Amino acid sequence: MSLFRRDKKEVEVICTFCKGTGRDPFRIMSPLSTCYVCGGKKKVRVASPNVRCSYCWGRGVSPVGARNACLACGGIGFIPGGNNTETCPKCSGTGEDKNGLYCLQCHGSGRAIPLAI
Ligand SMILES: [Zn+2]
Ligand SMILES: [Zn+2]
Ligand SMILES: [Zn+2]
Repeated sequence: MSLFRRDKKEVEVICTFCKGTGRDPFRIMSPLSTCYVCGGKKKVRVASPNVRCSYCWGRGVSPVGARNACLACGGIGFIPGGNNTETCPKCSGTGEDKNGLYCLQCHGSGRAIPLAI
């Protein structure tokens, strides 16, 4: 059973966090640890359309606490979103709030319309 509703489109992309290796890029447990973002499958499914995560610059790695997956996008590097290109007024498009956490208004996307995840 899918976690996603059937009327939502998804696309499969190479896992950003492990760059498609399926291994933990930071080898926290061991060099053979499985990537916890894709579960070792090397690919992840993201909603379509989506926008690149502004908070981690699409890298999937949290800008704070460097070895963790990005909290805003979950390590995928993309955030489900429409084609809205307006900049988020709260974070000015950076996806980051003044405390260094991801912007709660746009969920790190940097876009104006709040996105439900
Ligand atoms: Zn991965
Ligand atoms: Zn991110
Ligand atoms: Zn924002």
